[in-house]
Amino acid sequence: LLQLYLPLGFLGFVYREIRHSLADMERMFSLLEQSEDVKDLPDAADLQLKGGNVRFDNVNFGYDSDRKILKNISFEVAAGQKLAIVGASGSGKSTLVRLLFRFYAPTSGRIYIDGQNLANVSQHSVRRAIAVVPQDTVLFNDTLFHNIHYGNPQASEQQVYAAARQAQLHRFIEQLPQGYQTLVGERGLKLSGGEKQRVAIARALLKNPSILVFDEATSALDSHAEQAIVHELQQLSSNKTTLVIAHRLSTITDADQILVMDQGRIIEAGSHEQLLASQGRYFEMWTLQLAENNGEQN
Ligand code: ATP
Repeated sequence: LLQLYLPLGFLGFVYREIRHSLADMERMFSLLEQSEDVKDLPDAADLQLKGGNVRFDNVNFGYDSDRKILKNISFEVAAGQKLAIVGASGSGKSTLVRLLFRFYAPTSGRIYIDGQNLANVSQHSVRRAIAVVPQDTVLFNDTLFHNIHYGNPQASEQQVYAAARQAQLHRFIEQLPQGYQTLVGERGLKLSGGEKQRVAIARALLKNPSILVFDEATSALDSHAEQAIVHELQQLSSNKTTLVIAHRLSTITDADQILVMDQGRIIEAGSHEQLLASQGRYFEMWTLQLAENNGEQN
């Protein structure tokens, strides 16, 4: 029996390892939706993390040589701070994040994490440092436990529960007849958009990265759900450098810095209060969203 058990156990291990790497890829691509384009230098060192300071220094980028997408992008996020990026659809928000992941290299300019130029460090070490909560989380046809555990294959069972608790999922899961063993995905229990995003949050918490990217869902939410997002973001982002691609300005009023993008440029930067006071594009967007919210309530 032992002889039979051991190989089976080993196969299970291999199977899980493969699933984990697939999950990693899936998670990247669901946010980034891009193929890999950048190769490591032969002597690329691993990124040495010191808290997660992120700096873009005059970055320019285009997917094709005849069309510039990012133009003269410069900003810095201190370790542990929260940066929000807002702007119309197509203004370049996701592209900026793809460059941070080193899915693409800037055409000119440099990107640094903790003072190290990303062009010189290994991709895998960059991606290990960053966790993403994508807009649409894909769940695997597997148990809730394993769907969360994907975040960090090394995590213990207790750490999975702790992450689920922090992501406000634990109580929901415990009420299910099969708890953490409930099958989800296409063939299992269907989760709501918010529940799926909380699975992504639990995965990100388990990964415990220095840098967190939160890609806020564009779908309309009631104000209760919006408050839940604010709360979850706060949970997630404590002690982490956080970049939020935001669509609802009310979720980012506490950001240390907000970048307003338009056609590949940063046209305004500052805190919520500063940007309101300057009465520019952010002020316009804020006024519009307030009017929309009031419209919904009437
Ligand atoms: P949204 O809010 O709609 O997600 P965004 O601000 O994130 O938009 P990006 O996805 O960064 O915008 O896109 C910026 C521009 O780059 C768009 O004009 C888009 O068409 C273009 N673009 C995005 N991905 C590619 C690609 N793989 N190849 C060529 N052009 C691309």
